[in-house]
Amino acid sequence: MNVFRDFSDARGIFFHPEFIERSVVSFKNRYAGTVDALATIDGKFGVLDIKTSTGFYREYNLQTAAYVLALQEEELKQSLELPRNIETRWILRINQHRVCLKCRATLREKGGRSKVRSKRIPENVCTDDEHEWGEMEGDVELKEFPYYYSDVKAFLAAKTLWEWEHVFWLKKIGYLR
Ligand SMILES: [Zn+2]
Repeated sequence: MNVFRDFSDARGIFFHPEFIERSVVSFKNRYAGTVDALATIDGKFGVLDIKTSTGFYREYNLQTAAYVLALQEEELKQSLELPRNIETRWILRINQHRVCLKCRATLREKGGRSKVRSKRIPENVCTDDEHEWGEMEGDVELKEFPYYYSDVKAFLAAKTLWEWEHVFWLKKIGYLR
């Protein structure tokens, strides 16, 4: 993925190789997940999550806040041997696509499936086998999420609500008493 590498180099993103796709567990709040990467950007050390999407979704705030919260727990910090405290979190959004040279429709790979999208009126769009796909183009965007405390609060509230909704099954499997 050249777009990705070029952007990372240009933006000065350092991916800590020992912290790629590591599992994080919150013993205190009981949840787990996998952090894509821990990175240093502009001297700050933080959680970097990678999304292949056309936009930023608000759920990203909750997910990344949850990772940071877990990574502040002493037990996890020690077991992962974190070199320093996590200071922030970012989303690196990568959106790669090809554009049809004839009708300007876009082709994206999403989870192994191709998705064609067109903004034009249907009569001016090629049929499936008429498209002539150009070079892979990509736009990459990095966004830092500054409102950590309100995001953590929202995450924990969402988790509590989810547990309340699923209390029957959570009791059955012994997660809740
Ligand atoms: Zn086309």
